[in-house]
Amino acid sequence: MNAGIGGKPAGLTRRDTLKLSGMAMGGLALGGGQKAPQGSGKGLCEVGRCYPSSYKTEAYTYAEQLPEFDPRTPVEPNEMRITFLGTTVPPARRAQQMMSIFVQVGSGKTGHPDQAVFDCGSGVSANYNAMGIGWGQMNKIFISHLHGDHMSDLSYMYQGGPQGDRKTPLFVFGPGPSGFIWPGPDPEHPTYPYGPFDDGTKTFCEMLRAMLRWQSEGFCFQSTGVNAWHTPEEIKALWGLPFEDGKYPEPVKDPRAQWVARYREDDYLDPFTDGYAVVPVELQYELKGGTAYNNQATGLRIAHFPVIHTRVGAIGYKLEWDGPDGPLSMIYTSDTKPEKNCILQASGNEALDVFIHEMAVPPEIWAMKLMGLTAPGATDDQQAWNATVRWTKDVQESSHTPQGAFGHILSRITPRPRLTVPTHFPVSDDTVACALKSVQGHVPDIGRLGEQITWSFDLMVLRVYKDRIVQHRAVVSDYSLGTYGAMVPDQAPPKYYKYDDRHNVVPNPTGQIDPTDEIRATNPDGTVNYRDDGY
Ligand SMILES: [Zn+2]
Ligand SMILES: [Zn+2]
Repeated sequence: MNAGIGGKPAGLTRRDTLKLSGMAMGGLALGGGQKAPQGSGKGLCEVGRCYPSSYKTEAYTYAEQLPEFDPRTPVEPNEMRITFLGTTVPPARRAQQMMSIFVQVGSGKTGHPDQAVFDCGSGVSANYNAMGIGWGQMNKIFISHLHGDHMSDLSYMYQGGPQGDRKTPLFVFGPGPSGFIWPGPDPEHPTYPYGPFDDGTKTFCEMLRAMLRWQSEGFCFQSTGVNAWHTPEEIKALWGLPFEDGKYPEPVKDPRAQWVARYREDDYLDPFTDGYAVVPVELQYELKGGTAYNNQATGLRIAHFPVIHTRVGAIGYKLEWDGPDGPLSMIYTSDTKPEKNCILQASGNEALDVFIHEMAVPPEIWAMKLMGLTAPGATDDQQAWNATVRWTKDVQESSHTPQGAFGHILSRITPRPRLTVPTHFPVSDDTVACALKSVQGHVPDIGRLGEQITWSFDLMVLRVYKDRIVQHRAVVSDYSLGTYGAMVPDQAPPKYYKYDDRHNVVPNPTGQIDPTDEIRATNPDGTVNYRDDGY
């Protein structure tokens, strides 16, 4: 269906459209008109009291009605494709995994397509696999901040890559150390100051590498690298990476593998030609528009800017692609309290194409859902209710953008983005209807659900062109084994190898095990225990 260019959504019946616009309009009718809080100013939406709701609480009808899409469809030369792999706030739910967005740009002017992964929260690997997105495409990960719901599945992306077609390093972009020192509420208190911690992306990558040592060695009887690839100097230049003069991207070392320095010429256990190399690209989080990636060959540029989320150091990203029909752009703020930088980044002469920003349900709705209630406060246990609301309010206060604040931000972006996508949001008919009402309070002309604003859900695909943005839901098999991608030519020998009869290097899959108690298919005396071919 078309979005951002008005008109009746294609592919929907008139009844569907009425139903959807009814969904969009419903919040107030149910609301019964709660008074806006004092001092909140004129024109604010009187939303509240969306519950109990007649909307579905356990379905997202809008998504079900979008046209289907086969994710194997090649990206067109002039297309920017945004695929949502994980879209909700913790706690994870079956319908939505934690945050991850996959962006592909077409072959464009230069004949070179490109792609990037934004965040990699828990549970998204199954969605990447089901979508048939090969490991080789998951080689550049842009992390907004190091919360588990944004990076947990990195361990899987890291370990899976070299077994498939990513035989070159995993590049992890993310904020550098925060340097934050908490002075304490009372400077005289003897246990303060508290911090700073080694909380940057580089340290994270070192720990990730060390943590997965057993995993990586266990699979090194297969080739995990290539014989030749770009040098760090070349990658820095090709990708326009933000390293100072004389500094280059380099794989993290493992200080626990102390024997390495004794036996090898350099002390890199994972060379730049190996898939188990993790290369951090630390970004100076305070820069407003700092370059993270600027690939002249593909026309893809990714910049970063600070956002406000639980602790200093969280960032949002802006992607710009110099496509054949003109530039296309996207912002992904990830998690943040309402703040000004995203407004600056999203405003300009030309409308931003896609604005992706987190949105939080109101604390009392969140508490209601967490406690399994049908209306806020509808419980005999007021103590538990008050404690839960206190907790959800605190989370909002430290970290997130409420629905109305989202509308306020949108009202300050000029010109308005072609399509706005709230994310990190538990979608269902009831939560979205309530949220749209809040946004409409600030942006009354935002239109129907799906026109200029649409909530993200897992496996939502946006095909972005200069003249249209088409929304889809990808249709995949829940039972697919996914893809390991095409095999890579010129593979390096495996690290655990042996020689065959002709003194060729071949994989040694049993080199790391103790076979004493093993039951072999065939005993030394020739008697057979089981078939050798797996059947
Ligand atoms: Zn977070
Ligand atoms: Zn989050």
